[in-house]
Amino acid sequence: MDILIKNAFLLTMEGPGVGLIEDGAVVVKGNLIHDVGSTDELTRKYKAHRTIDSKGKVVMPGLIDGHIHTGLALLRGMAQDTYHWLQKGIGPFKPHFTRDDIVKGSMMNILEGLKAGTTTFCDYDYPMTEIAHNYLKIGVRARLAATMNEFPPDLHRLNIGELYPFDPSIGEHMLQENVRLMEEWHERGNGRITCVFGPQGPDMMSRELMLEVKNLAEKYETKIHMHVAQGDREIDQMMKRYNKRSVEFLDEIGYLNERLMAVHLTEATREEAELVARRGASMLYCAGSIGIIDGLVPPVMEFLNAGGTAGLGTDQAPGNNCSNMFNEMKFAAILNKVKKSDPTVMPAWKVLRMATIEGARAIGLEKEIGSLKPGKKADLIIVNLKEPGLCPVITHPVRNIVPNLVYSARGHEVETVIVDGSIVVENRKVLTVEEEKVVYQAQKAAEGLAARAAEDFMKSGTKTVNMMEKGYL
Ligand SMILES: [Zn+2]
Repeated sequence: MDILIKNAFLLTMEGPGVGLIEDGAVVVKGNLIHDVGSTDELTRKYKAHRTIDSKGKVVMPGLIDGHIHTGLALLRGMAQDTYHWLQKGIGPFKPHFTRDDIVKGSMMNILEGLKAGTTTFCDYDYPMTEIAHNYLKIGVRARLAATMNEFPPDLHRLNIGELYPFDPSIGEHMLQENVRLMEEWHERGNGRITCVFGPQGPDMMSRELMLEVKNLAEKYETKIHMHVAQGDREIDQMMKRYNKRSVEFLDEIGYLNERLMAVHLTEATREEAELVARRGASMLYCAGSIGIIDGLVPPVMEFLNAGGTAGLGTDQAPGNNCSNMFNEMKFAAILNKVKKSDPTVMPAWKVLRMATIEGARAIGLEKEIGSLKPGKKADLIIVNLKEPGLCPVITHPVRNIVPNLVYSARGHEVETVIVDGSIVVENRKVLTVEEEKVVYQAQKAAEGLAARAAEDFMKSGTKTVNMMEKGYL
């Protein structure tokens, strides 16, 4: 055997809850989990090249970030506390991004997530055929989509509420990027990288292109990762263009099925959320991002209560500002308790499932990841419970570990990260790339981007600009 992890507080996430094994062990052979059980049994049964004693630590599946745009990371902290986030918040920066900026920001963003225990990233960005190299280098698992839209890059120059003009040549170009991604990247990195299709939203491309994407997803037998009802802006565009709301439109053109990973559903009504769930599409819920960008809590409870499968996502640095799944779990739990005025809503064990096994189901990888089970890919994290913020650890007869992981952990407690059987982070140190260099390069790229975009940004007249001018930021 290659790795034996023993004496752990094991959360396998198998069965209906968290699949607790108190003095547990995991055996890794190659890139797979070979066995899971008690330390007593497994240490008698196996000898391994490497033994990791995880006394006082939690061992659990790596976290799954179901929706992230790593290419936007250089805009961290540049578009909050304002209205019209897409068009006026990040809009003025977008035309000034170079491919190099996107790739360098993405690299930093992936490290941020990885160090906080994310092992699978559902990245949704452009140009994904270039970003994909970062995943190969760092050695994490990724489910990639190339964002596709059909609107011009200077969206920020349109008036708010103006119907986006579509340019089919832009749509075709982006579609080809997604097809190239599929052809060149699917199953690369020992199968760690898989690809799906990524239309940016039903309001952002023509019906014809939407249908072309649907046909391609069927041809390649893969999923469609798409923002759905992501804001009042989208519903407004849909009503103006089709006189239909997003969910009704998508149902009509045959998008609502198991192939669809529907992101946000911010503006979906209860009935619409229930319909999406009943049709078998999954939901990716980005609590922090939608809370900050829109001041809203999407109908995720309604979606779940209708039998839907939902995972969690951190979305992007300039919204959520933080690509940390521990942060996301806490947001998801608290925001829904507040929305429903009910402390029993979204208990800790449930959000932990959404960040692991349910998240795996939501992105269609439940046979490979999301729980610690023999035969699954060896993607797991070791979390040190001896941190002041995670103490005390009580196991008998009272147990406090799961609530502490969700409500107290901040991500830095993740000590070791194993992806596909390889140790990628050990004692908080990333082993595959030079972290300091990655951060330096992202910093330099961001400085250049901010300088190039400054004039457009200052002209945007947003609240953010106003606050900066006043010296409040
Ligand atoms: Zn998004």
